[in-house]
Order: sequence, then C-alpha cells, then structure tokens
Amino acid sequence: MSFSALGLSEPLLKAIVAQEYTKPYPIQQEVIPAILKGHDILGIAKTGSGKTAGFVLPILERLSRRKTTINRSVKALVLVPTRELAVQVTEVFQAFGTYLPRKIKTLAVYGGVSINPQMIAVRDAEVLVATPGRLLDLVASNALHLWDVDTLVLDEADKMLELGFAEEMNQVFEMLPKKRQTLLFSATLKEAMQEIRDQLLHNPIKIEI
Ligand code: AMP
Repeated sequence: MSFSALGLSEPLLKAIVAQEYTKPYPIQQEVIPAILKGHDILGIAKTGSGKTAGFVLPILERLSRRKTTINRSVKALVLVPTRELAVQVTEVFQAFGTYLPRKIKTLAVYGGVSINPQMIAVRDAEVLVATPGRLLDLVASNALHLWDVDTLVLDEADKMLELGFAEEMNQVFEMLPKKRQTLLFSATLKEAMQEIRDQLLHNPIKIEI
C-alpha cells in the first residue's frame, strides 16, 4: 500500500515525499480513506502510531478541494490537551500544506501567553489547533466564531479529560454546527470517553491500533 493509493492529490504526495514518509502506517491506511469519504472516526491510538498525519492529510485534502473562500473563517478545529501538542500538530499541518495551490493557514492557540496576538492572528485561520480554555476565551472576546466548523478533531481526548477539560469541551461542542464530521482520537476508551463518543460520533468507523 502506498500513499498515492489512499486518494491524496499531488501537492500532498509531494509533501509526503519531502517529509521522507515512504509508506503509510497501518492507522493511516485505514483512517485516510475513511475521513476522505466523510465518516466519523473513533481512533484508539497512542502517540507514535502516526495518527497525526492520519487526520492532517485528509483534512488538508478536503479543504484544498474547495474553492477559495472569501469568508476566511475556521473550518477545521482540532482540540488538544496541551500547548506542546498544539504546536506539534500545527507544524504537521504546515509541513504537509507546503505545496498546496491555495495557502491554508493553520494556527495554534493555547493559554499561558498573551491573548492579543492570537486575537489578531486568528482572523484568517482556516484550521485552528486549540486548547479548550483559550479557545473559549477567544470566542468570548469575539475574536472568532465557530459557525463554519465542519470538521472537529479531538486529539488525545483521554488526556483532555484527565486534565479536567470536560466542562470546557462541552461548552465548545455546544457552539459547533450539528452537521459536521467528528474525529475522536484517544489512547484509551474509558467510561467518560464512551459518553463523549455517544454524544459526538455518528456511526463512527472504529480503528484500534
Ligand atoms: P504521531 O503518532 O502522529 O505522533 O507520529 C509519530 C511519528 O511518526 C512522528 O515523528 C511522525 O513524523 C512519524 N510518522 C508518521 N507517519 C509516518 C510514516 N508513514 N512514515 C514515516 N514516519 C511517519
């Protein structure tokens, strides 16, 4: 199995070569075609499995297939537990987006730093990688809205719950359009996670690595 068999277009394949990925990891072989088809995903996968590229590549593919949007609002939202993960995931979006014909701006937002630069930078972001608390602060200050989000990713969802973000996550979910694609990644499937799964996912494809 090669990346080109998964339904990704040339600019992404070129970036994959530049990243020196030769062959898709098992999780990527499963999730990339499923996400491209529009399915919800429940991915039980740890760091190191290759899950990040597994959701980044198909999200970029789907965004790049759209015509240029005059309205540059956030279309894909990735919720993460920590600043470090926000930065890492953003770098993966940026690296794979290098050769796309249309620039897709990805921005990381997280707490612990001044909100002002983020309020300005977020204006033209199409992909937002955020920790839940700071995301809510940005929405509360009218720096952005979430009405146009049609893809939601929860990355390391179990860790987000462990860190006590359940309430903030729920507040975010309530602001999102009901009609959307949701991709849930977690290292474990504990009870609390099952609730989130039942609440958010519609006929998900379950992938366990
Ligand atoms: P992740 O589980 O997403 O944190 O990825 C773990 C590591 O594997 C990262 O350093 C990725 O750059 C790398 N990686 C992911 N997919 C591939 C692949 N298909 N070929 C080679 N390296 C990969």
